Amino acid sequence: MTKRIFLIGHPVGHSVSPAFQQAALDHYAKDVRYEAMDVDALSLSQAVSSLRDPDVMGANVTVPHKQATVTLLDELTKEARLIGAVNTIENRDGVLIGHNTDAKGFLKALKEEAGFDPQGKTALVLGAGGAARAVVVALAGAGAKSLVVANRTLERAVALIDSLRSKLPSAEAVALHPDSLRPVAASSQLIVNCTSMGMSGGEGQGETPMTADLIPSEALVCDLVYNPRETPLMSEAAKAGARVLGGLPMLVYQGAAAFELWTGKEAPVKVMFEAAEKALMARQPVGS
Ligand code: NAP
Repeated sequence: MTKRIFLIGHPVGHSVSPAFQQAALDHYAKDVRYEAMDVDALSLSQAVSSLRDPDVMGANVTVPHKQATVTLLDELTKEARLIGAVNTIENRDGVLIGHNTDAKGFLKALKEEAGFDPQGKTALVLGAGGAARAVVVALAGAGAKSLVVANRTLERAVALIDSLRSKLPSAEAVALHPDSLRPVAASSQLIVNCTSMGMSGGEGQGETPMTADLIPSEALVCDLVYNPRETPLMSEAAKAGARVLGGLPMLVYQGAAAFELWTGKEAPVKVMFEAAEKALMARQPVGS
């Protein structure tokens, strides 16, 4: 019997996950199909419930359902509970377990692609949505010395820090504005963009949360946005002489962690990178 794994989101047509997850499954010649399922908010509960079928191994969950899915599952890992969002569901004999592999994927990308260990480092996180929560939990867990969260809506950054206060005794929230970013950025060894600014096709397409004059040359600047491959923030960081890391490695590593949960097999990361890059190239207009 062909098994299935779903990607649940709305919209899902733009996602590169089906390309690299199917490549990984095919690498092991598994009779498993990874399929995108466009699900609106009204149908989410029913769609999640259908994952209990014996032929379904699990699912990935993406925008905008990562938070809402938390309440629809039988069990949650400690990390998913702390982040308050689920990006991976495992069907264990009809019991649905919610995981969040974004934090793990982020740390793995930092380590493998930039040789960066957050232990004892100062970090500035831009954004206060779901991705920022995963990154903040990851950095706190990895022993970052200080954390500042900057967001357009300041109250959301304050709420994020307050809800994780026990893990973040010395964290601070500031507005996403050059005047408040300047002093904080100057002493940051890691700057992570978790806003959707710069994302192709989105509201903030072509925009950057920081310009080169705010970025210290000694920092590592990591942009979670992976489309386009070189984001406006990455160009600004390069201008400032800083090191840059794009969002594709995190995407692949969070997917690799999910693959290992579903299959119990080591994720073929190289195959997944190649397939993800190919899928992204295919959707970028020539010249962009
Ligand atoms: P989300 O929960 O909707 O949060 C969006 C964040 O972006 C909020 O902080 C929002 O600020 C900010 N924002 C949006 N448009 C803005 C603008 N024009 N100016 C300033 N701030 C703006 O989304 P998310 O799930 O956290 O995802 C954020 C980004 O990370 C997306 O681009 C997503 O594709 C990317 N991501 C990448 C990976 C990966 O593996 N590479 C994983 C997860 C997410 P307000 O609070 O003020 O609205």
